[in-house]
Amino acid sequence: MDIAFEDILRKQDLDRDEIQVLLAAEGDRMQALLRRGLEVKLSHLDNCVHLRGLIEYGNVCEKDCLYCGLRSGNGRVERYRLSDEEVLSCARLAYELGYGSVALQSGERSDPEFIATIERLVREIKKIGGGSLGVTLSLGEQSEDTYRRWFEAGAHRYLLRIESSTEELYYKIHPRNEKHSFRKRLGCLESLMRIGYQTGTGVMVGLPFQTPGHLADDLLFFKRMDVAMVGLGPYIPHPDTPLYRLRDLVPPAEKRMDLTLKMIAVLRILMPEINMVAATANQTVDPQGREKAIAAGANVIMPNLTPGEYRESYFIYPDKACVKDQPDQCKSCLDIRLAAIGHKILYNAWGDSLAFTKKKDAR
Ligand code: SAH
Ligand code: SF4
Repeated sequence: MDIAFEDILRKQDLDRDEIQVLLAAEGDRMQALLRRGLEVKLSHLDNCVHLRGLIEYGNVCEKDCLYCGLRSGNGRVERYRLSDEEVLSCARLAYELGYGSVALQSGERSDPEFIATIERLVREIKKIGGGSLGVTLSLGEQSEDTYRRWFEAGAHRYLLRIESSTEELYYKIHPRNEKHSFRKRLGCLESLMRIGYQTGTGVMVGLPFQTPGHLADDLLFFKRMDVAMVGLGPYIPHPDTPLYRLRDLVPPAEKRMDLTLKMIAVLRILMPEINMVAATANQTVDPQGREKAIAAGANVIMPNLTPGEYRESYFIYPDKACVKDQPDQCKSCLDIRLAAIGHKILYNAWGDSLAFTKKKDAR
């Protein structure tokens, strides 16, 4: 390995060019980068992985993102939503399994009934175990008033991926209309941070037209926004979506996986104390994808708690991993897989982002 590369690897404040050098690393250089991601994580955090039990609340969506199977224009998906009781029994299961937190995710809806239901569900989830479950929401773009209502009900983390921080690329993967506004999405992230949520964002890796420069800009965007959490995962072409037509422009699965791992490692160097999700999409492109992401610097996993009969309808992308697993199988599987890479699950804890906690304490 040459000295120039080693020098870049030792830095923390990387510039755009240096990030691109790291993202281009292959072979020994790539392995050195991934080891560095792990080393930085272990020196700032620890070898504990935090869990968020994922509840896929519903697949009705008002939007039409060109890559996603839940888009309103996809007539080939059977739409569902969970009843209150189904959501609460998933949350009770998360509590019994010691997961510490749940994440409620769904297609985007903004009707008053949806907003009130989520508010009620958050309040009910907070009653389980006397407030012991952390609550993350990932329910798309909403008004600041709605975000505030849900925050006051007890949700304290929110995930809203920017999908691409480059406006031009954003509009290549979303229709250009009032429902899909890059500026609005940015405004939502700002609202979430203003309200006091631990705010998470992220991008898909390996999109058609995406360049290493775009990816470097994404990482610098996360840093500039000073977010508390990031979720990065490979883009997976879905046959019932318009973007599928451009699948020849998508790098092969192995390349997308490697690029995702390199993004995780570089981001860990840039932002050592944030929470970073090892997305399930990693496991779809590589059976060991989630563990590889943990070993490159990620520290959060979201095991699926959605009742079995609905899982196949939450068809954001094809071949989703673990669709058939039962929650208790999933738990022991994770324990074993993580032990194999020298990590362990921290049970019965919220697992807040250290970056966020420190910032809050400093205020
Ligand atoms: N509706 C909400 C949350 C559900 S979608 C929202 O959009 O924020 C959650 C994430 O799934 C999206 O942010 C997107 O990054 C990811 N996703 C959608 N389609 C995908 C695909 N084809 N491959 C990989 N990830 C995808
Ligand atoms: Fe709906 Fe989210 Fe899919 Fe876009 S990414 S179509 S908002 S579920």
